[in-house]
Amino acid sequence: GDKRLEDLNVADTTCGYCAVGCRFDLYSDGEEILAARPTEDEDAPVNGISTCVKGKFGYDFVNSDDRLTTPLVRDENDEFREASWEEALDRVAEGLGGIRDEHGGDALSVIASSKATNEENYLMGKFARQVLGTNSVDNCNRLCHSSTVAGLAATYGYGAASISVEDLELADCILLTGSNTTEAHPVLATRIKQNVRDGADLLVFDPREVQIAEYATQYSRVKPGYDAVWINGITRYIVNNDLHDEAFVEERTTGFEDVKEAVQEFTPERVEEVTGVPREEIVSAAETIAEADTCVFGWTLGLTEHSHGTENVMAMANLAAVTGNLGKPGTGVSPFRGQNNVQGGGGDMGPLPDNFPGYQDIADDEIRAKFEEAWDCDISPEYGHYTTQMFLAADDERVRGMYIIGENAALSEPGVNHAEEILADLDFLVVQDLFVNETAQYADVVLPACSFVEKTGTFTNTDRTVQMVKQVMEPKGDSRPDWKILQDLANRMGRDWDYGSTAEIMEEVNSLTPLYGGVSHARVEAEGGLQWPCWDKDHPGTERLYTEEFNTDDGKAQMQAIGYSEPAELPDDEYPFTLTTGRVLYQYHTGTMTHREEGIMQYTPSDFVEIHPDTAVDYGIESGDMVRVESRRGEVTVPAQVTDRVGRDNLFVPIHFAESAVNRLTDEEHLDPAAATPEFKVSAVRIRPVKGE
Ligand code: SF4
Repeated sequence: GDKRLEDLNVADTTCGYCAVGCRFDLYSDGEEILAARPTEDEDAPVNGISTCVKGKFGYDFVNSDDRLTTPLVRDENDEFREASWEEALDRVAEGLGGIRDEHGGDALSVIASSKATNEENYLMGKFARQVLGTNSVDNCNRLCHSSTVAGLAATYGYGAASISVEDLELADCILLTGSNTTEAHPVLATRIKQNVRDGADLLVFDPREVQIAEYATQYSRVKPGYDAVWINGITRYIVNNDLHDEAFVEERTTGFEDVKEAVQEFTPERVEEVTGVPREEIVSAAETIAEADTCVFGWTLGLTEHSHGTENVMAMANLAAVTGNLGKPGTGVSPFRGQNNVQGGGGDMGPLPDNFPGYQDIADDEIRAKFEEAWDCDISPEYGHYTTQMFLAADDERVRGMYIIGENAALSEPGVNHAEEILADLDFLVVQDLFVNETAQYADVVLPACSFVEKTGTFTNTDRTVQMVKQVMEPKGDSRPDWKILQDLANRMGRDWDYGSTAEIMEEVNSLTPLYGGVSHARVEAEGGLQWPCWDKDHPGTERLYTEEFNTDDGKAQMQAIGYSEPAELPDDEYPFTLTTGRVLYQYHTGTMTHREEGIMQYTPSDFVEIHPDTAVDYGIESGDMVRVESRRGEVTVPAQVTDRVGRDNLFVPIHFAESAVNRLTDEEHLDPAAATPEFKVSAVRIRPVKGE
């Protein structure tokens, strides 16, 4: 309206939606966010001057009517009532402290939040170990890319993208799989499309003909759950025809002979039979990759959310290594991370059951001693529960109390019918969030946190760039930043934390975390962003990983032989379809932010099920008809969208709405053995029209 930009607060900050990490200036009059504009310096490292609809317009949630502005506690009638911070924090200290003192720290679990800053996530891990005495601290990475982290760490040394975003524009060829890039990572998709327009090859392998496939040189529809099969098929063709990079394999890798032997069973004929990808397409993809001077391998959750997700990632790592596509401009592996700060907050900062910050193993005596001394506490060398296991472990009462920060577990866990039972059975649950979300319904105490526009700190994006997040308005109501809440709680529970700012917290991170040794707020601010590893204050940061050597004992990539695998639950006569889940552009995760955006809700007001036209005919279903989708674990009812975007035997339902919580259908038990990732991408289901019922 009539407000002049120069009269407003402005902060150059980093987007809080996805991990692309776009930077822009946010304008606020102190009450609400009024505009997002490109930053002055036009070379915001990731996005330049572009942003997507979420970063540009997605701020109604900050002032939404149902934003939590005071703490809530459960009263005698089992209803929430407003409470002072004093009372609420006392209750939490008593609730969690009581369980710790009676049953030991292992009876407690923390779920940390990848929406929060690096500094806050560091404190979440520290709080779990130092104050609660448990290693059971984990976060949403377990539900998405933990298999990427496990697979890449085992082969190359770092569980992260090796590339800089810029490499997506430098590559001669890009292989994308399981990534709905245009909808989930819009600004990366723009850069990929630009490169394709300039002549790069784009190969897309996906069960759904996602929008980015329209730009592809080759789109191949794969049957969900058999990714290692087609990837190994491509590797086989390349090595059997001597199209691999012999010098790179010789000098920089180990395990080549084993990989070569393991891929022999994946002939083009076999790959076609198992995955449905025509044999010529395996051959042409292999030739395109081999002929390209440089290739980037990009993926998201279609590759990782499987009971064999880690093997899928290792198969991809082998393909990149045999073709020598690592450590040079325009080459590398690029898992596109989801949550704005899942790389930093969810991984690097170590709110993890097995790692301290910087992927330092808690079982390593020397490292554990370093943290025990710095944090003045004893730490068990035994790994804690992964998130998915917290919900399974609680069955025999091993987890009695939980502290859930910014995670809507009641919708996002696999098999949520079961997760709901666990949440309801806890002796004590504290939820810290912006809203009373579905998970908070089970809480004893709800603490009001604030969003990324109300606080200062850092996020680390999908290409390892640490960037500043800056406060542009006061916390709404009595809400507080997570770090201040954690500090108050720690001090109520007998500790003596005294952080005056998140910059001070980062200094502690620097001193304990070699990867972040030189990542101070002052430098991030001055340099616009810093990519880890950044070992010390003079180190320039690392644009690309593995330029000289891999982060392994002998400095070589450790290729692992990967054989045949299949999903845990195969379709059968009773449940003949394979269901995958995923995202749409205008929504975000379980919708706690985007459902509060009026403009966004007009585009996608509910979830839906995509059904192939032939299947629709078989069942007498038309677009818009309500359809019941049933698995062995539950059922949901959603309107049909008849489309040949999905294959004949596949269905797709997005993950964004509580009314149709698709995770009632997914499987909580068959987890990836290395990473405990659930198989969100494959569930056997059946369908039934509900017309006239
Ligand atoms: Fe934000 Fe991601 Fe959109 Fe960029 S692409 S504006 S980081 S949601």
